[in-house]
Amino acid sequence: MTVRVPAKVNLQLSVGPIRDDGFHDLVNVFHAVSLFDEVTASESDRVEVVCDHADVPLGDDNLAVRAAHALAPGRGVRLEIVKNIPIAGGMAGGSADAAAALVACNALWNLGRTTEELMEIGGTLGSDVPFALLGGTAVGTGKGEHLTPVETSGVYHWVFALADGGLSTPKVYGECDRIREATGEQVVWPTLSESLTKALADGNAEALGASLVNDLQPAAIMLRRSLHRTLDEGRELGALGALVSGSGPTCAFLAESEMHARELVVSLRGSGVCRDAVTAHGPVPGAAIV
Ligand code: ATP
Repeated sequence: MTVRVPAKVNLQLSVGPIRDDGFHDLVNVFHAVSLFDEVTASESDRVEVVCDHADVPLGDDNLAVRAAHALAPGRGVRLEIVKNIPIAGGMAGGSADAAAALVACNALWNLGRTTEELMEIGGTLGSDVPFALLGGTAVGTGKGEHLTPVETSGVYHWVFALADGGLSTPKVYGECDRIREATGEQVVWPTLSESLTKALADGNAEALGASLVNDLQPAAIMLRRSLHRTLDEGRELGALGALVSGSGPTCAFLAESEMHARELVVSLRGSGVCRDAVTAHGPVPGAAIV
């Protein structure tokens, strides 16, 4: 049973004040893009995981393993993960694998859980997991787990500049808090951007590029100064929009067309501002059996 699952980029990531439980209230517009991991589930008497990438944990801390345990405690499965989504890259790769494991195990074990039920279980594993099941474009509120689909038209062409090494999501949030405290920034309650939703409904890539927001970007840049140059390079190469993806360090560039995206990839690769660059389009559907 093989499931393909997309990465996400955040089109708007607005970070509100810290709540009593230590999390922030967010307005998080997720957009699923055609960078896919694959998770294959097969019979086994225990839960085990194999992966083609050395940086992925193979124990109970693997999110796909946690997903299998959460779906049916005590049942065994072998999970084989083929990784294409950058690790600790701000594109929710671990959450994507958890979502894929939920769909694959649900089918392998014939449990008959609905997508809504899987999303509920996914929400207990991490706030990005429900979106990886849903796909498309959606706004998440609360910690990001209450999802509402967003109307979009057209296809958007993206370029992702991949960095060496990852950034820890909790560290980036911590840095965001530190910067806000140090600068005395007034933290406002986050609301959904009207210019962003209009651009998406109109299929207007230029307006979308101008509306991209990521409140974590200053913190990610503070922790990885080189991202400044990467973003500047993409802008100079004519990207309609440039931002750090989620907590980084992957940078996302919105291109004018598929052709422009391919040109951007070649130029970014040649510029030395990133480890590699890849194209992807969005929106794409969530985790699905292939
Ligand atoms: P997000 O965008 O949701 O903040 P991310 O894309 O920055 O996440 P992930 O790739 O999800 O980061 O990985 C974060 C950490 O989670 C990794 O450093 C790794 O130790 C752990 N992890 C657990 N399961 C997985 C998995 N299946 N794939 C990748 N990393 C995993």
